[in-house]
Amino acid sequence: MRRINPLSMQDSYKTNPWYVTAAVLSSALFILYLTTFYNYVLFHTLAEWFAIIVAGGIFMVAWNTRQFMRNNYFLFIGIALLFIALIDVLHTLSYKGLGVFVDFDANLPTQMWIAGRYLQAVSFIIAPIFLGRKLRSNLVVIVYAIITALILLSIFYWKIFPDAFIEGKGLAQFKINSEYIISLLFLFSAGTLIWTHRYFDTRVLNFLVASIGVTVLSELFFTTYISVYGFSNMVGHFLRIISFFLLYKAVIETGLRRPYNLLFWELKGSENRYRSVTESANDAIISADTNGKIISWNRGAEIIFGYSEEEAMGKPLTLIMPDEYQQKHQQGMQRVKTTRKLRVSGKTLEVEGLTKAGAKVPLELSLSSWVLGRRMYFTGIIRDISERKELEKRKDEFISIASHELKTPITALMGFSEILSYELKKKSIAKASIYLNRMSEQMRNLSMLVSDLLDVTRINAGRLELNRESFSLDKLIDETIDNLYMNCAGHEIFFAGNKVESKVFADRHRISQVLTNLILNAIKYSPGKEKVIVRVRKDKNFVKVSVTDFGIGIAKKEHKKIMQSFYRAENVSKGQFAGAGLGLHIAVKIIERHKGKLWLDSELGKGSTFYFTLPER
Ligand code: ADP
Repeated sequence: MRRINPLSMQDSYKTNPWYVTAAVLSSALFILYLTTFYNYVLFHTLAEWFAIIVAGGIFMVAWNTRQFMRNNYFLFIGIALLFIALIDVLHTLSYKGLGVFVDFDANLPTQMWIAGRYLQAVSFIIAPIFLGRKLRSNLVVIVYAIITALILLSIFYWKIFPDAFIEGKGLAQFKINSEYIISLLFLFSAGTLIWTHRYFDTRVLNFLVASIGVTVLSELFFTTYISVYGFSNMVGHFLRIISFFLLYKAVIETGLRRPYNLLFWELKGSENRYRSVTESANDAIISADTNGKIISWNRGAEIIFGYSEEEAMGKPLTLIMPDEYQQKHQQGMQRVKTTRKLRVSGKTLEVEGLTKAGAKVPLELSLSSWVLGRRMYFTGIIRDISERKELEKRKDEFISIASHELKTPITALMGFSEILSYELKKKSIAKASIYLNRMSEQMRNLSMLVSDLLDVTRINAGRLELNRESFSLDKLIDETIDNLYMNCAGHEIFFAGNKVESKVFADRHRISQVLTNLILNAIKYSPGKEKVIVRVRKDKNFVKVSVTDFGIGIAKKEHKKIMQSFYRAENVSKGQFAGAGLGLHIAVKIIERHKGKLWLDSELGKGSTFYFTLPER
């Protein structure tokens, strides 16, 4: 079952191909052309009625959908066209030869024509003002009614409307000038439409602009005729039909067949916005009905739960819930059905989800409900918080490790100092010296832990400073091994292979810290295996150092994790080996700052080799 989306269905709706429409339109125009041979007045009446019907249709669509529309452009145009159509009806009825207004000659329909076109052009210019604005439709109707009445009065009663056609002479200068002015006004209105294009669907905009363009053309033909039955007059009327046909396509056809491209254009915008957010979100956004059936499933949900949209749609929500949550969920659903209220609405809950692979994931869930018709639906925004939980766990672990690591040397120091004072009292100097040694060893541990903590803080704050100098890495390795000699009771550290000349430009102290850490780890994690091997060799433009032991090793799945701060592998965290899980993290950061790499090869129970590289100088 796919998500049924009324808005996207609108997009898939197909109109006839353009050439079919063009063929039908041309045939209709041709038949209309034939009527000119029979009776020009009939032709004129049919042409005008077409425009009048379209204008009336636009008014009806716009008027009856006005409460849904936020874009009032079409409502304004609709009202204007209603009154323009009224003037055009009178224009048609007053046409020469029809004999409705017997006391008037061809001047009357031409005056009506000019009045109608002025009103139309000005309305098209004003309309964009209402694109993002409220429109008091009743007021607009009253204003247009008054304007129309004034026009008609000025023509029929006061007779002050300028002459437009003079029988025997042809078009009056006023009419010709007016047609040019009207053309310019229409061009201007097309400009404002293009300027405000973002408020319109492209198809609608194209039709509107094309319709205005054809209107301008038709107006130009109307500047040239001598007889109201003449050729230019006929071409002008053909163009008028085409221009209203385009208006019909833009407003009536689109309005009725693709309402989301016209009437609910903003709604479509917000739908698209919503969809792009849902699709790009890393959080799962899932909607369900009151039966708990999934009705929408985004990409985030696919990533977190592993089910594709096809797999999840229509399934019960329990699909992604561990058993222990299912009963509570059913009860909650039942309660919502009876009370029609969502208790947890707006709250964030921590829950667990069940993935397709059967794993549990810690989740943060916020729920909201919405109503469509009489039905209620829910949308949950779900965030995978495994990482945060893992971090929290590691922090807790760290606190317990750190307090243990800090407490052990302090307790030992207290113990030793008591024994020491006792031994001094007894004056057994040799024993006192042993305890003093142990005390300084404990203090060294303590100081190492504190400086590791300081280093991590520096790294996290991006304040790890390097004092670079040029030195030979092999010499530094020699020195470091010598310094560690005291620490490697029972172990032997070999500096193996050819000691290549390996000059680097680096922070000597920090690199020694990395080496010390790797060697001490190798010793610490290989009890009973006395050999630790250090190697150095050249690798392209890098110097590569490795430290190998034959100790407890590290499971493959933990190779990456042990580089994170405070992480300690499962096989060491039972307390046999002291440590806070900071050394490797610091080592990685130091090597990365030097544009080198640190990695490892290790097998559980067999031993480990840690490598790092530094650019050769
Ligand atoms: P610490 O040794 O203080 O725990 P490190 O950051 O130096 O912290 O190391 C992180 C973890 O990596 C250790 O806790 C251990 O689990 C693992 N580890 C590091 N070096 C070795 C090694 N040579 N052999 C086995 N495990 C190691």
